[in-house]
Amino acid sequence: MTYIPPNKIESRAAALLEKACIEKPAVSVEKIASALGAVIEYSRLNNALSGLVFLGGEKPIIGVNAGDPPNRQRFTIAHEIGHIVLHAAQIGRDIHVDRGFTVLRRDSRSAQGTDALEIQANRFAAALLMPRAFLERSIAEEGIEIDDDKRAVPSLAGTYRVSEAAMQIRLASLFV
Ligand SMILES: [Zn+2]
Repeated sequence: MTYIPPNKIESRAAALLEKACIEKPAVSVEKIASALGAVIEYSRLNNALSGLVFLGGEKPIIGVNAGDPPNRQRFTIAHEIGHIVLHAAQIGRDIHVDRGFTVLRRDSRSAQGTDALEIQANRFAAALLMPRAFLERSIAEEGIEIDDDKRAVPSLAGTYRVSEAAMQIRLASLFV
């Protein structure tokens, strides 16, 4: 299990945004997937499944549960992109399946290897969908008071097309 420090995850996500020529929110996960040569398959999966990734074929394949709400699907795709960028060696030719992970999940199993991969992929997804540089610009340009949670979080979540919970966690991790 290789530990990847959060700042490394941030810089890998920023490099990928640059490669995909994405300069403003909402970040297009489809554009990023195609910059990586990955294919996204939208299908109705069992309720408990949010997504999966397979790296054993010609192109990386990302599967996403089309029954999930759109923002959730975006987070899932960004999470699977995180696995492609960070975890190709660990996943190998297996199908990596994600069962309803949540950005809020913080339990005692976090220290275990599998959960470390999930935490890294979630961090990557947050950095990809809510890049620090974009947020700093949004906050400056729109005169947003990030202490004013009731207005800042819904407004930014709307602009970035992420859940309010994901935005709240991201703002707290970057600016508090
Ligand atoms: Zn995962």
